[in-house]
Order: sequence, then C-alpha cells, then structure tokens
Amino acid sequence: MKKVYTNEISLLVSNMKNIIEAQEIDVFIKNEYAQGAVGEISAFDTWPEIWVVNDNDFDHVMEIVNSSQKNDNTLDWICKSCAEENDASFEVCWKCQSENT
Ligand SMILES: [Zn+2]
Repeated sequence: MKKVYTNEISLLVSNMKNIIEAQEIDVFIKNEYAQGAVGEISAFDTWPEIWVVNDNDFDHVMEIVNSSQKNDNTLDWICKSCAEENDASFEVCWKCQSENT
C-alpha cells in the first residue's frame, strides 16, 4: 500500500478518490475523520490521505493525480472575500461560503 495524495481539504481528497475509483483502481482514505472542528488548526499528519491498495497501480494513480491537479490549477478561482483558493468544482468558497462571482 502506498500513499498517493493528501490534502488539508477533505472535500478535495474525496473528489480525488472518486476520480481514481472511476479508473477501477482500489484506494482507501486514511484520517478521513481525524480533522478538528472548523477553524481549528490541524497538524499535517491528520490530513486525510488517499492510499492505493495495490502497489502495481501506484504509477498509474500518480498520473491520474498529477493530470487532474494540472487541470484544476487552470480552473481554480480565488475568493473575492477572503482570497482563499478554491477548486473549480466548488460553487461557494470552502472557507467563507461566499459565492464565486
Ligand atoms: Zn472565501
């Protein structure tokens, strides 16, 4: 088993998991519920992580992760209220819930 992806934002982690699973690759999430309450600073090691079950899938999964992150970067938007970066799939800011205008 190998770790392929981690992010502070659990929504992005589950989104990535869906993308990987769409390729019929077995993955699981560690630390999914380890994060503290909103506003609490969580240590890096409690970020949710995606692990690939079969090491043979590792290279393939990293390609999926890298290419999907590349796509995301071109479409990310910056919140006008709090200047936080948001994933293109979000309609409201993950941090302050302002709409993407
Ligand atoms: Zn915001």
